[in-house]
Amino acid sequence: MTKKINRRKFLQSSAALATAAVSGQGYAQTAGDKTPVIGGKISSPAPIPVKKGPRVVVVGGGWSGLTMAKYLKKTNPKFDVVLIDKNQQFVSCPISNVWMADQVNLDFLTHSYVEAAQNNDYLFLNTTAIELDRTTKTLVTTLGSIKYDYLVLAPGIDYEYSRLGIENPEDEYALRMNYPAGFSSASEIMMIKHKLQNFKGGTLVLTVPSGNYRCIAAPYERACMAAAIFKKHNIRGKILLLDMNPDIRIKAEGFKKAFSQYYADIIQYEPSTEISGINIVDREIETDFDTYQFDDAVIYPPVRAASIIEKFGLSDEKSIQKEASIDPFKYHLVDDEFVYVTGDSRSQPFSKSGNTAHSEARYVAEVISAHADGKEIEWRSPQTMCFSGVKIDPLESMSIIAYYKFDEMEKNFAFDRAHLMEKWNERAGQAGLAWAEGMYRDMFYS
Ligand SMILES: Cc1cc2nc3c(=O)[nH]c(=O)nc-3n(C[C@H](O)[C@H](O)[C@H](O)COP(=O)(O)OP(=O)(O)OC[C@H]3O[C@@H](n4cnc5c(N)ncnc54)[C@H](O)[C@@H]3O)c2cc1C
Repeated sequence: MTKKINRRKFLQSSAALATAAVSGQGYAQTAGDKTPVIGGKISSPAPIPVKKGPRVVVVGGGWSGLTMAKYLKKTNPKFDVVLIDKNQQFVSCPISNVWMADQVNLDFLTHSYVEAAQNNDYLFLNTTAIELDRTTKTLVTTLGSIKYDYLVLAPGIDYEYSRLGIENPEDEYALRMNYPAGFSSASEIMMIKHKLQNFKGGTLVLTVPSGNYRCIAAPYERACMAAAIFKKHNIRGKILLLDMNPDIRIKAEGFKKAFSQYYADIIQYEPSTEISGINIVDREIETDFDTYQFDDAVIYPPVRAASIIEKFGLSDEKSIQKEASIDPFKYHLVDDEFVYVTGDSRSQPFSKSGNTAHSEARYVAEVISAHADGKEIEWRSPQTMCFSGVKIDPLESMSIIAYYKFDEMEKNFAFDRAHLMEKWNERAGQAGLAWAEGMYRDMFYS
């Protein structure tokens, strides 16, 4: 007699086989829905309904996770999708620079996770992921554990202060508190707006990191917006833009023209300033050749994949930005087809941008759905789209749209088609806001 096996059992037993293969511990036990034991401690289940289909847990309700949760459910309605985020509400990083310059209000950036979950038929849990046990397919959160059939990690980025020569935790803390980067959390972004709008004069330092940092154009856009605020409010301040790169990384012609045409008396651009240390007490930034004095600063360190990737033991030790080793086309861990890493935590060298994360998540949702059905789908390039505000009242912007292709010689991805518009105008300013509205509509409404 043939023994029947349902999909849940199938998924669990194939996961057990997969993990057993890597751990070398023999066939791992699948714990069903029983209370799991993680690291010798019992973790009670998180307060969510029992699953009604293969459960896909998505960690991180940013541009990637929100899109993923919606499109997993759309592509495969049988999936029981749970989105978790440590924040209670979503505040958009894209458009935050132009918000600092009062071109939109805070409502434009702020959206509700509860509404997104209700509109798109998935569960949302406001909690933090703290541990992962791949042998029992259990994610532990501060509210209890969740068993998954598939897990998507989309936790974004963290800052790497050690790459600015900051080794002491107290110094790092002082930098985070006094000179936040504003490339991750809403409270950092709010503090920077307050700084810019209330600057008393003198030198304000903005830094640009090296490496594949989040939103390549945004630090240069922020310099334009900060200078526009100074002009509008008659603030007698200088912006010292210290770039760790040898030149402006994107839309260089446009930004250089904007700096000289509108902000020549405000922005001083210094390329190739490899920061080797920061003296917080004396407000000095040290590079190999110079020491720069400042009155206030916005210090953007190099970035890495969010720290839970390392905490969960997934970071590839060869990766400078501590990314996980994932299949570059299918996004699952190379040793586990049930755990995926997407968005700005991914290891591919795509631009760390919201549009990239959004278009990629739609594709990866299809990859996971196909995997659950024992199928595969063809690789699709993510799309990078980025608008940069240059001038305000009315807002005038530049833009870029790009795709990627895999270069067989280099064994890596490179830009494919790219459309660059370095002449700013009001139409592109409005198009940038319309783009963001369209994205929010897609992520939060059905
Ligand atoms: C100033 C600025 C301007 C930008 N402009 C643009 C632009 O014009 N166009 C564009 O396309 N992109 C832009 N970006 C980039 C864009 O914001 C990011 O690329 C995008 O947010 C990446 O999406 P993500 O989902 O990977 O990460 P995020 O959006 O950062 O989401 C990660 C989520 O994971 C959550 N999380 C992390 N760890 C845990 C945990 N352990 N447990 C639970 N939750 C956790 C976080 O709370 C967060 O909500 C800009 C960014 C900035 C800062």
